Amino acid sequence: MTSLLALSKEALTEFVQSRGGKPFHGKILRRAVLEQGTLDYADITDLPARLRETLKEELPIFGGRLVDQCLASDGTKKLLLEFPGRPGRGPDAPPSKELSVETVFIPPHRSKDEDGTARGATLCVSSQAGCPVGCPFCASGLLGLERNLESHEILEQFVRGRAVGPLRRAVVMGIGEPLLNFENLNDALGVVREEMGLGGRKITVSTVGFPDRLRRAARGEPKFQLAISLHTPDQEQRDDLVPAMRGVPIEEVLAAGDDWFEQTGREITYEYVMLGGVNDTPRHAERLADRLRGRRCSVNLIPYNPTPELPFARPESGTPEGFRDDLLERGLIATIRWSRGLDGSAACGQLRLAKQA
Ligand code: SAH
Ligand code: SF4
Repeated sequence: MTSLLALSKEALTEFVQSRGGKPFHGKILRRAVLEQGTLDYADITDLPARLRETLKEELPIFGGRLVDQCLASDGTKKLLLEFPGRPGRGPDAPPSKELSVETVFIPPHRSKDEDGTARGATLCVSSQAGCPVGCPFCASGLLGLERNLESHEILEQFVRGRAVGPLRRAVVMGIGEPLLNFENLNDALGVVREEMGLGGRKITVSTVGFPDRLRRAARGEPKFQLAISLHTPDQEQRDDLVPAMRGVPIEEVLAAGDDWFEQTGREITYEYVMLGGVNDTPRHAERLADRLRGRRCSVNLIPYNPTPELPFARPESGTPEGFRDDLLERGLIATIRWSRGLDGSAACGQLRLAKQA
């Protein structure tokens, strides 16, 4: 069975007409779901009752299922979604088992701005089921790639996230490597901007920065902010920490980042996961500052969020602040991103891993 989010505007109109509706009923439906966030046909009262009943039977809104959620004490809410598995290889082969993906709703620190307007949350979205990059510190890479998410499956995460509460920002920093499923992601982001009303300046896509793909993306008039996961200034160490990029010189990644900035005018954030005793020494800060000197960009330090199966630790207390200050003294813009929702199995991919174990 197909789902409403999987149908283009035209296909939805056709579907509705084939079930006795008028062409404009398709528009009403899309607006209700995407603009207004109405997720129950019974509530879309601008549609004739008979049509609503038929659609309820024959056209589920989502292709996936919400199978679990956990709420951390700071209000962070993780949604575990299940999508259909990969199709079987032969005509009679059964599909693989269902795939799970995480979406995380992170409420604002303060619920209101100074002027009293309510603040929305940040939604963290996944781009693939599993990840083929295989970073040894990341739970998402442990099981490899299962399959790319379809564009409607990425969109579904936004629609389900907004049903939890109003959104202010979104980050594509969940499971998967966005540049390896770029077309589907970009299609979904188009709908999010145009029909859900979340602008491109409010959406950040995080990637390990495959240079050729990045250059191609920069030429497609991308409408989002970019973050590149660098993690270390040292070539040998990056080859270990980001295995799928082994042999790609850091300078090439940075040059592709410079090209992105020239093409788009959008400044890059370099992400740096801080692994205790691995890449968090003052020497690393010094060499990182050397690498980034003269570039209009910022650095976001992410103290590691330990994953039980993995041999990495959080940096010692005070280290992230010292590292940040070293970068600031050398003229860079640097911030620390402290993890949220820690008591709700926060490190991306952990909920999914627990489910599959
Ligand atoms: N694949 C993309 C986007 C998803 S990961 C990328 O790697 O950029 C998003 C960010 O979370 C990356 O910077 C990644 O290094 C970081 N990350 C992954 N596991 C983490 C963990 N356990 N603790 C802290 N950051 C982590
Ligand atoms: Fe994939 Fe990003 Fe995790 Fe690396 S950090 S395995 S690229 S999701």
